[in-house]
Amino acid sequence: MPSPDSIDRPRPTSNTGFSTDAMPVAAAIARMCDGLQPVAAIERVAIRAALSRVLAQDVLSPIDVPAHDNSAMDGFAVRGVDLSPQGTTRLEVVGTALAGEPGGRRIEAGQAMRIMTGAVMPDGADTVIVQEVARMEAGHVILPDGQQTGQNRRLRGEDLSRDMPALTAGKILTPADLGLLASIGVAEVPVRRRLRVAFFSTGNELRSIGETLAPGQIYDSNRYTIYGMLTAMGADLIDMGVIPDQPQALEAAMRAASESADAVISSGGVSVGEADFTKQVMNRLGDVDFWTIAMRPGRPMAFGRVGPAYYFGLPGNPVAVMITFYFLAREALLELSGARRQRPAYVSARADQPIRKRPGRSEYQRGVLGHDDAGRPVVSITGTQGSGVLSSMSTSNCIVVLHHDQGSVAAGEPVDCLPFEGLL
Ligand code: AMP
Ligand code: MG
Repeated sequence: MPSPDSIDRPRPTSNTGFSTDAMPVAAAIARMCDGLQPVAAIERVAIRAALSRVLAQDVLSPIDVPAHDNSAMDGFAVRGVDLSPQGTTRLEVVGTALAGEPGGRRIEAGQAMRIMTGAVMPDGADTVIVQEVARMEAGHVILPDGQQTGQNRRLRGEDLSRDMPALTAGKILTPADLGLLASIGVAEVPVRRRLRVAFFSTGNELRSIGETLAPGQIYDSNRYTIYGMLTAMGADLIDMGVIPDQPQALEAAMRAASESADAVISSGGVSVGEADFTKQVMNRLGDVDFWTIAMRPGRPMAFGRVGPAYYFGLPGNPVAVMITFYFLAREALLELSGARRQRPAYVSARADQPIRKRPGRSEYQRGVLGHDDAGRPVVSITGTQGSGVLSSMSTSNCIVVLHHDQGSVAAGEPVDCLPFEGLL
């Protein structure tokens, strides 16, 4: 199968018209991210408040974790050299080491010390024998054979070593990271400031919820999916509402949005039928390219700068909005936030039915990922794949990614799936 990340050279585009060739998704991502300046401001926050934020600088561990060699089990600390290779070993028990005690006691040849999980290993001891296999007898412990020197011992610094990066800049902090920071006694970390993203919907046909629909009108749903996706990314949001298809209104909205936000996201108005009007406005305000992307759903998209802000003009169809957000805009927003972007963690699953696909464009189908009786991942495509059918997004739990060069898939063949959880 072709590499999903193969980056074709960008095709030429201009400010004034659609490119003649459709641009591969990877090329569009590369063009958006190339030279993009991440937000520079840094704030120090308490570690609980750092969840889902972007770490701005490496955090070096001030200590070794663990700070001492210690026991991984309840049992007996012994010297590996004292263990008989055959038959049992009998050792004198000279005391007990509890977790939280400073350590520093020593065992000599022929001795053992009772030890609890997490307790510092006595000097001289390098091995722990679990208590379940040991037997006490008159101040001595009888140990079975078959024990390995070094077993059940955690080494000093095996988790983190002093002055080495515990976490590196660009990491989006997870619950595990908060625990890791706590484990090295770090109370505050530097994070990049949140992205400020303004967004609006365009279209004369759109009404907001709470309004009554006249014939031909529809409710604006894109502002809600965009709100949800941006919130999941941890952005600060500026909701600019619905903007009618009218040059002055669009221009005023764009000006206001670009003055207050790092990024502006609009939906609608970039398809062939409507783009001329949008282009006129964008050409007056900034430097925006109109692209035809080799993808489905999606295709039309605008990207560029308006004043100090980056502008993402997404298509209007509700599913196309979500797909272009997740697979294009999100990549650039992550870059803008200072996050280290990662290759998508695809799950390879067997398609439970044939999937038609044309090579030469990326296709994103809504799927339901599950397991067969043997526990192997299997995916089925949700029934209706139309780019306006939002219910198919709602019932699915993953996107089946059919890569640019990939062709049709036969039933039973593996396909790459991206679970929605991975996109949060
Ligand atoms: P456009 O790209 O503006 O031509 O829009 C393409 C299709 O998406 C049209 O059927 C629009 O009515 C629909 N659409 C555009 N914006 C929205 C929105 N915010 N909510 C729901 N549907 C929309
Ligand atoms: Mg429209």
